Amino acid sequence: MASRSIKSLIPEMEKKARLVQEYCKTNGVSLLIYCTVRPLEEQAVLFRKSHDWKFIENKINKLESRGFGFLADIIKDVGPQKQIKSVTNAAPGESFHAYGEAFDAVPLLSGKPMWKYSDYKSGWDTYAKALKECDLTWGGNFQQKFKDLPHAQLCPGSNPLKLYPPEVIKAILTENGLLNGDY
Ligand SMILES: [Zn+2]
Repeated sequence: MASRSIKSLIPEMEKKARLVQEYCKTNGVSLLIYCTVRPLEEQAVLFRKSHDWKFIENKINKLESRGFGFLADIIKDVGPQKQIKSVTNAAPGESFHAYGEAFDAVPLLSGKPMWKYSDYKSGWDTYAKALKECDLTWGGNFQQKFKDLPHAQLCPGSNPLKLYPPEVIKAILTENGLLNGDY
């Protein structure tokens, strides 16, 4: 199961998550942080649900050729998934959720999550402002085919696998308990 505890985040991100919540509260918006660290298997399932086999196979080949075979294996291991609406471009390891450097949040209105921007513009705008204030990168600003409104991350980069070599990625994921079944 994905964690929704901000204590699962790295200390710098945990601190910022608290500040974002405070900022929203001060401005009259109640915010639910519903995902922090997401297990690699869960990311793999989301990834497979989001794309056709050609795209998935291409990603597997790319990961293997770049030394990330241990991530390609996770995509293979979760098996075929019924394709739905595209919800993520990120394969396992390609999301900052695996590194404790991202969270997903939604503004609440009368206790109910307002997933659609058009249903609660002022809430989403406040959330976006809070992220900017804390120097976080907002998924609503991603230059991709879909905007990831709930998503916030510490690093402006789009892909953690471009930041570190395979052995470092493997070490971080192991330390986070994502590669040894603790999640
Ligand atoms: Zn996210």
